[in-house]
Amino acid sequence: MANGNTSDQYTFQDPVNRYPSVSPPKQDQPEPGLDADLEPKTDRGEDSYRGTGRLQGRKALITGADSGIGAAVAIAFAREGADVALSYLPEEEEDAARVIEVIKGAGRTAVALPGDLRDAGYCIQVVQDAVDGLGGLDILVNNAGKQVAVENLEDLSDEQLDDTFKTNIYSFFRVTKAALPHLPAGSSIINSTSIQAYSPSPHLLDYASTKAAINNFTKGLAQQLAPKGIRVNAVAPGPFWTPLQVSDGQPKDALPEFGKDTPLGRAGQPTELAPAYVFLASPESSYVVGETLNVNGGMPSP
Ligand code: NAD
Ligand code: MG
Repeated sequence: MANGNTSDQYTFQDPVNRYPSVSPPKQDQPEPGLDADLEPKTDRGEDSYRGTGRLQGRKALITGADSGIGAAVAIAFAREGADVALSYLPEEEEDAARVIEVIKGAGRTAVALPGDLRDAGYCIQVVQDAVDGLGGLDILVNNAGKQVAVENLEDLSDEQLDDTFKTNIYSFFRVTKAALPHLPAGSSIINSTSIQAYSPSPHLLDYASTKAAINNFTKGLAQQLAPKGIRVNAVAPGPFWTPLQVSDGQPKDALPEFGKDTPLGRAGQPTELAPAYVFLASPESSYVVGETLNVNGGMPSP
């Protein structure tokens, strides 16, 4: 838990200083980064997110659920009454174990499904294993992502280009396609996109391009699936403090200033995103289809 703030998401408080404007020290982690090694720690809601039964009995598969935003969403879903299957890379077992402990602490089932989403076979298998482990599926959160900053296009390797597209957009197509036969009417699909979809940083060309593709995929698929009673929406985070940022997601020199240029003057904490996913997953958003919820500290977005 970050920064000693144990007030829950319903506590009346000033968003400017709900969390301090952290100045993360320069740091480096190999990909994928671990929450366990991040300095300062993030708030994924372990000590603060209070559920009110909004996802009672639901069955969710979340990719990239071990850390950062996916972990905060997994914790919130469990506290709202959902069972959760977690996809993550095998090298992230330590982070996943911590999130699984919190889900079990909420009295819910957690299904651990390590694997690599660049592998088309795993994209199919992870859905089957989630369905088997949960006894069905009615929420899919496509959230895994790869972000590696490269200053000049000349230095962007073909390998990185391929990995970024396979992880960030091919897997969204493949996992969603595999999930469709299992999703009953009333299900929700939620895609993690980014403010980068509209305002690309010059050093994130490959990443930002995949995020624009995710927005397009979301809006098109939403129209295809709405008549079947399956809602597709997206969440577009601004700068959130997560392990993605220190495993070359940002240029090292930029880390101490990360998120300070938002109108709120600070980076977001992962748990501040969770209510957006809960809203889109729950039946209360029944008429919200093909929408992108921007959660970015006030940065102008279309
Ligand atoms: P994170 O590092 O905690 O999560 C990303 C996860 O993606 C990893 O935990 C990993 O499990 C998964 N992943 C990456 N490559 C994979 C692969 N080949 N196979 C399987 N899983 C793989 O970072 P995060 O910031 O919480 O990122 C979650 C999502 O949010 C990403 O899609 C990211 O693009 C998006 N996002 C983050 C921010 C931010 O500021 N942190 C802003 C906008 C969008
Ligand atoms: Mg991780």
